[in-house]
Amino acid sequence: MFTTTRFTSWDLPADIQAGLAELGFEFATEVQWQTVPSARTGKDVIGQARTGSGKTAAFGIPILESCQPTGTLQGLILAPTRELAGQVREELQAIQGSKGLKILAVYGGTDLEKQARTLQDGVDIIVGTPGRVMDMTKRGHIDLNSPTWFILDEADRMLDMGFFPDINWVLEKMESRSNTLLFSATFPQEILDAAYEFMEDPDFVISNEEKLDIPPIEQYSVRIGRSNKLWALNRILSTKTEDGQSIVFTNTKRMVDLIVQRLSKAGVESKSLHGDLNQNQRERILNGFREGDIRIIVATDVAARGIDVDDVTLVVNYDVPSEIDSYVHRIGRTGRIGRKGQAWTLVSRDDIGQMNRIIATHGLIVDETSTPEMPDGLDEKIRFSEDHSESSSVFGMVPIRIDIGSATGLTKLSAAEWIVDAIRCDELAIGNISIEDGHSFIEVHKSKVGLALKAVRKNGFNGRDVIAEIA
Ligand code: ADP
Ligand code: MG
Repeated sequence: MFTTTRFTSWDLPADIQAGLAELGFEFATEVQWQTVPSARTGKDVIGQARTGSGKTAAFGIPILESCQPTGTLQGLILAPTRELAGQVREELQAIQGSKGLKILAVYGGTDLEKQARTLQDGVDIIVGTPGRVMDMTKRGHIDLNSPTWFILDEADRMLDMGFFPDINWVLEKMESRSNTLLFSATFPQEILDAAYEFMEDPDFVISNEEKLDIPPIEQYSVRIGRSNKLWALNRILSTKTEDGQSIVFTNTKRMVDLIVQRLSKAGVESKSLHGDLNQNQRERILNGFREGDIRIIVATDVAARGIDVDDVTLVVNYDVPSEIDSYVHRIGRTGRIGRKGQAWTLVSRDDIGQMNRIIATHGLIVDETSTPEMPDGLDEKIRFSEDHSESSSVFGMVPIRIDIGSATGLTKLSAAEWIVDAIRCDELAIGNISIEDGHSFIEVHKSKVGLALKAVRKNGFNGRDVIAEIA
């Protein structure tokens, strides 16, 4: 995730250098390295990089460098929620060091007139939510005519149906706009199309670390039936949470609430985070979590987006996520910027296929292990129940589809030899093989499948390129 480029090599103004140093930022992250230089020259930029990759500083450094402490509004940054707006403001405040820019956050849910008074002595940069920025503009507290910088954080959410009319309204008012930056973890095509409408020949940068950038944390999976997942979760939380905070992920809102309830009965306090909460509730929980009053959050994928809390040392996947990339986003919550962490995934029989696909797609190293023992002296309040549905054997084989078959001279024997040679594995790691005319399926044990895919794609078969994918 980090490049070898030091911020000191960028001849940034001294106060910003000092701010970065104070924060402990030494090397630019990938996305910063790719976007900051062109944004500094005044280009419009679209930056796509995963959560936790340092997008805030990527747009923060150029805008902070360009603006001057004059008290006239020079930059507007929009974020989808009050809590993200607050977070961005905090980070910019730290990065600017002693530059003295007045950076204020404006958002709904607080007294508008009171917030307006904070703008009275002048403001250089506003970080806000769209609704509140519009309200304050209509009432004459904000003059959108003056800022030249316009930045959208979490741009995919900002440009989706819900917010788009608001963003357009703001854009139309910003007649001096000359620098536009958009940052997000994803850019669906229709969002890109919308963005190009109001940007000027932007650089579109995708930081391709997404696939490779697996956080350096320990990953474990536990084979466990549905009916005993709570039992296992309770044990994992009891063993692992002493010196850090935890996020438990599950696929449905209903399950979030259920888990919180059951844990609470067992004497384990946690809070739920999902899309049904209103902004205030959400924020109270996130603040409590950030401050460490809340130790455990149970969340759906969507609700946990954009949360940046450094002390998360444990992520538990109560369910295996139905989207392959969600697994990486989830475990990316821990081990942030070099911290230690663990990710545990509870895998029931129905989850095995999906878990194998995830492991293979990202070439993950996941230790299959058993549920930890309850720590001494702790009372186990959730019981294990007998569960026969899970006891039949599972071989852990993953089918790979390749685009060559008998027409190319491939046979079962040569296919097996080819793979065994290519990855130097035991023959037992190869399962069923079926050869058709133009394509074939080869089962490979999940512990080797990542390796096998790589080798096959790299070496091909008898001098021929081979397309290989998980079937
Ligand atoms: P994103 O917006 O891409 O999800 P953030 O901007 O919130 O990521 O950054 C994630 C974390 O990384 C924050 O705690 C931030 O302070 C830290 N960070 C960002 N850039 C650097 C850097 N160059 N060196 C060290 N830490 C960094
Ligand atoms: Mg962000």
